[in-house]
Amino acid sequence: MKVAVFGTKKYDKDSFEAANESSKIDFTYLDARLDAKTATLAADHEAACIFVNDQCDEEVLQAFKDASVKYIALRCAGFNNVDLKKAEDLGLKVVRVPAYSPESVAEFAVGMILTIVRKYHKSYLRVREGNFLLDGLTGFNLSSKTVGIVGTGKIGLLTGKILAKGFGCKVVAYDLYKNEEKAKEYGLEYVETLEELLRQSDVISLHCPLTEGENGTRHMINKERLEEMKKGVVLVNTSRGGLIDTNDLIWALKTGHLGAVGLDVYENESSYFFADSSSKIIYDDNFARLLSFYNVFVSGHQAFLTEEALLNIAQTTIQNLKDLEEKGECQNECKPEKKGDKGGKKEEKADE
Ligand code: NAD
Repeated sequence: MKVAVFGTKKYDKDSFEAANESSKIDFTYLDARLDAKTATLAADHEAACIFVNDQCDEEVLQAFKDASVKYIALRCAGFNNVDLKKAEDLGLKVVRVPAYSPESVAEFAVGMILTIVRKYHKSYLRVREGNFLLDGLTGFNLSSKTVGIVGTGKIGLLTGKILAKGFGCKVVAYDLYKNEEKAKEYGLEYVETLEELLRQSDVISLHCPLTEGENGTRHMINKERLEEMKKGVVLVNTSRGGLIDTNDLIWALKTGHLGAVGLDVYENESSYFFADSSSKIIYDDNFARLLSFYNVFVSGHQAFLTEEALLNIAQTTIQNLKDLEEKGECQNECKPEKKGDKGGKKEEKADE
């Protein structure tokens, strides 16, 4: 099988080559990011392998179809960037990597909380400049603080576990669908409403997929919800940027209501992330404004990036492609939501 890998980075190629040693998949590694024009580079390939910010809209999917591509293999968990309905209409099968390493993101989320609470990023820069003053670096103990976990799937549960068992936090959780058994084992306590969680928490960490519609998560953190949070709250998002309404977040930061914010994702990240934009002007005023706040820490969608996660992504992607070729089906196929489905629910349960 020939597979065109869009937006390939060195770390992608290394992990795919390592995982492909015993397989016969012929990968073409493309630097190009996916759009309707570059999609034609997949001509003569049965599959296209894409990542989180590769927008697979109607035009791109049609270009794939015209290029005789049959399969789209997401080398990530989220699939909000693919128009699944259109893909189905065109007969294109879409597969993903549902759980490559929840630990990678959970550990990063906890690291991000510690960074912004204890200000590691500021002391690193100060000390390099020979400034050993501690003024402005005062944090607070996580022990005995209340942390709110929004979304208790694979990553949210693990994040809660590290904070409850490792730091002695009181961890409250909210999800549309509870996983009582794991939550109890990991030391998380469910609350009935998101509002309850927002009101109680000193630190809030978001772990939902980006979904649309009635129970959708797009802009679930908006002005109203930000106002519900405690003054001085620490908010971390390692899930999808679209969960937060950036205009409202900037408003709340300007009022001084938020203590600190950590973002590994940003709703319009695709214009900047995964590329060296250091000699480019940032035209996105909201993004530039976020970067200007002294109490906002931004990383470039890096939470997944561990050796273990990369190898797992490559191995699962190869297995997905083999299953499609040999059996014509794959357990990791993404299907469009049917009427009556409940927003954001995934079939699989939390599994480490
Ligand atoms: P998961 O599917 O295991 O869990 C998501 C949970 O969110 C589910 O329990 C679901 O019921 C819940 N949920 C959905 N809608 C909700 C709502 N409206 N309110 C409350 N809960 C809701 O997913 P996961 O593997 O734990 O991933 C969580 C998020 O992390 C996803 O958005 C994923 O795309 C993101 N992610 C980010 C990175 C990164 O590098 N930053 C890497 C991997 C995954």
